[in-house]
Parts: sequence; C-alpha cells; structure tokens
Amino acid sequence: METVEGCTVWFTGLSGSGKTTISRALEKELRLRGHKVEVLDGDLIRKNLTKDLGFSKEDRDANIRRIGFVAQLLTRNGVIVLVAAISPYRKVREEVRQLIGNFIEVYVNAPLSVCEQRDMKGLYQKARDGKIKHFTGIDDPYEPPLCCEIECRTDQETVEQSVAKVLLTWQQKTRQHRDK
Ligand code: ADP
Repeated sequence: METVEGCTVWFTGLSGSGKTTISRALEKELRLRGHKVEVLDGDLIRKNLTKDLGFSKEDRDANIRRIGFVAQLLTRNGVIVLVAAISPYRKVREEVRQLIGNFIEVYVNAPLSVCEQRDMKGLYQKARDGKIKHFTGIDDPYEPPLCCEIECRTDQETVEQSVAKVLLTWQQKTRQHRDK
C-alpha cells in the first residue's frame, strides 16, 4: 500500500446540508482503498468531547477548536480526518486551517429552504416554533466560505458526485505533497 500523508477534509454547512452523508460515503470509499480514516462528526463530538459546551458564539468556537486540535493530532499521524461540523464562523475555520496545515475545506451547500424541507431530525420545525434557540440559519448566523477548495451543491448533485469531487481534490493535493 502506498503511504499517504495525513490530511483533514473539513465539511462545513447548515444542518441537513449533507455533511454527514457525504463524509460517511467518502469514509467508505477511502477505507476500501486501504486508507486510515477517522470521521469526527459534530453531533457525536457534542455528546462526548464537547458535552459541556452550548451554542453561544464562544462555545461554538471552542467546539471547533477542540475538534481542530484532535484533527491535527490525527493528521500528523497519517490519518485522513473527515470533519462534519456546521462550523458557522469563518474566522475559527481559518484558525483550524492554519493549525492543521494539510487541509481541504468543503462547503456543503444547499439552500436553507431545502435543508428545512429535509429536516430529518425535526430541528428546523422546533427552531421555527421557538422551542430551540440559536439554531444556525434560523436565528443564528452561518458565514459561508469566501474561498474554499470545494463546494458541493447537494440540491443539484448526487452524493456520488460530491464524493468524486472531494476524492479528486484530495488526490491532487496528495500528489503535489509527494512531488514537493
Ligand atoms: P448534515 O450532516 O449536514 O446535518 P445529513 O448528512 O445528516 O446533513 O443529512 C442530509 C440529508 O440530505 C440526508 O437525509 C441525505 O440523504 C439527504 N441528501 C439528499 N441529497 C443529498 C446529496 N446530494 N448530498 C448529501 N445529502 C443528500
């Protein structure tokens, strides 16, 4: 098996945009190819590593910094890390990018109306009813990337197309790294 440098692929986007779906499909694909992969999924992370944090800007940033710290440790040990977290604030995304180094940012983009229609967890409805406060996209901000490696328009492309795009960028980056 060829040796591959560690890398973090960071999926950012609204709840229901498709971060988990794409990252899990990509995980499967990379494992089939024999790579070491770890998915850091925001929902799971908030149940353990960042259980103590809420949804204020400070806590959201702290959540991302902790995920970024773990991603950095794994990345430097040759793991391909797939982070699926809303990560609504641009500045802290930039901070973890600098920390990690080998970093691919993927903007998982579907219009709010589509995410709301999907509403798999019923959270948008609760937010609209005022039962959940500070819900990203409803009464809390989301700052889309101004410049990122990949954008996946999940209302217009299939999961397979999104996975293929990410794989291609990752392969190109890996090649550049090796040729340096
Ligand atoms: P997030 O992790 O961003 O909150 P999820 O991946 O949990 O989002 O949910 C996205 C939902 O949208 C899933 O039910 C998924 O099947 C659906 N979906 C429909 N089309 C796509 C697509 N092209 N890419 C990703 N998800 C899609």
